[in-house]
Amino acid sequence: MAKIIIIGGGVAGLSAGIYALLSGHKAVIYEKHTEAGGNLTGWQRGPYHIDNCIHWLTGTNSATKTYKMWKTLGVLDNGIYSPPSLYTCELDGRRLSLCRGADRLENELISVSPADISEIRSFASAVRAAAYLSGLCGGKKTDITKLFRYFKMTAGELAEKFSHPLIKMFLSSFLTEDFGSLGLIFVFASFCYGNADLPRGGSKEAARNMVRRFLSLHGELHTGVAAEKLLLDKNTARSVLLDDGTEVKGDYFILTADPEPSYVRLTGKSLPRALYKMKNNGKLSRFSSVHCAFSCPRNLDFDGDLVFEMTEDAKILSGAKYLTLRNFSHESSYAPEGETVLQAFFFCREDRCRQIIDLDRNKKAYEKIKKITAECVSGQIELRYPGLKGKLRLLDVWTPATYRKFTGSDCGTYMSYAFSSGYVPKTCRNRADGIKNVYLATQWLQPPGGLPTAANAGKNAVACINRAENRVSRSKRMP
Ligand SMILES: Cc1cc2nc3c(=O)[nH]c(=O)nc-3n(C[C@H](O)[C@H](O)[C@H](O)COP(=O)(O)OP(=O)(O)OC[C@H]3O[C@@H](n4cnc5c(N)ncnc54)[C@H](O)[C@@H]3O)c2cc1C
Repeated sequence: MAKIIIIGGGVAGLSAGIYALLSGHKAVIYEKHTEAGGNLTGWQRGPYHIDNCIHWLTGTNSATKTYKMWKTLGVLDNGIYSPPSLYTCELDGRRLSLCRGADRLENELISVSPADISEIRSFASAVRAAAYLSGLCGGKKTDITKLFRYFKMTAGELAEKFSHPLIKMFLSSFLTEDFGSLGLIFVFASFCYGNADLPRGGSKEAARNMVRRFLSLHGELHTGVAAEKLLLDKNTARSVLLDDGTEVKGDYFILTADPEPSYVRLTGKSLPRALYKMKNNGKLSRFSSVHCAFSCPRNLDFDGDLVFEMTEDAKILSGAKYLTLRNFSHESSYAPEGETVLQAFFFCREDRCRQIIDLDRNKKAYEKIKKITAECVSGQIELRYPGLKGKLRLLDVWTPATYRKFTGSDCGTYMSYAFSSGYVPKTCRNRADGIKNVYLATQWLQPPGGLPTAANAGKNAVACINRAENRVSRSKRMP
């Protein structure tokens, strides 16, 4: 039995911990925050619960391997909620939603714009092909060459193939227009075929379920302690120095936080070559978002997300074109009866994230920008929903600076990288250059990151340790 020290108790760390225990090792997690979960979290504001994370969880279709992984990790212990639509775009009073099934998607797009029929048919075929490749069509053979023409298109370029402004917006606003259109097509396929639903209870409950699973297998979780340094003996890590001054020995070390700041600080070495190359790849970019949460009456007229274009002055202030609203009415415990939590957010590119993080050095300036942002966002919501005038109560505002402080990610990002057109997501090697017993288990090994990438990274790191320990048979049996 090896003693595996895991630094960071986010999804990657908890996954590594659970798979380590299932493989017969001792697993100890050190998490700098007071609770485990990392970005998979939520928090209370009085009687209101703010859900930080999951819009869709890839791997809710029981035919997939990822589903089995979520079951092993306990993430689906409260069951699955299947929302009727993932998101809705609204333009000039007309709406278009991503609902279930590629046929329905095709028909709804055609009903919005019959003139775009040939592009729509081609797009729907690509969604079916992506579903087939993701193992979601029950083996029904589908022509995957339908995907090829989208490889070199961004979502923005894809949108330009259509003449109708609502379809253009539908395709370019959800993941942003810079994202590779194949990424969008795979998300559509997942949602259409029931592989992108929500764990009941929300993000925080999903994280708690992972913690329960870890503890029930006799894992050791220490919260409120940060790892400061790995102490090396030539090319082997011997122990980790914690910020409370203790030194803890281990046989293997798994690092799970954003490597850009954490790997460099912990090991005293520069980024592993593969990660350095990824960081400098022009096809990859970092992003984050600014969020405001409000309490409001429960009777909102949309499910999932609603995306609409902001007014010109709001675009200048936010640096974004679209505002997305998230309705949490499906979780009745998030707010007192008759009310719900309405979250609004807009995306920020890396330069904007860094500006906000810089502002955070000056408490007054940062608080001021948060106040202005909240006023601007509530104004945009009230313009769209005049009935909500005077009924929105601000619960919280958070930004890339919050994410940076909370998880230690480089510019407040919470996914790894957005990838543009012509990029095939690759997984970087999970080894620390030149240190024998240190593994990386993080979403930053593979764009675009996200929960399945993080959880898989944890699982893969343990599989590598099992191989190193000559436990091939055990790693093969890992659920
Ligand atoms: C608003 C939002 C929406 C999202 N929506 C989705 C979605 O719909 N679907 C999806 O798949 N993903 C989504 N994500 C992304 C998802 O949350 C992340 O991909 C995932 O949580 C990353 O997990 P991780 O363990 O790799 O990293 P993190 O969550 O960053 O965890 C790293 C952990 O390490 C800890 N840590 C850092 N440094 C140290 C140290 N020195 N010592 C000890 N501990 C340390 C941190 O505190 C943190 O807990 C969303 C994220 C956000 C914020």
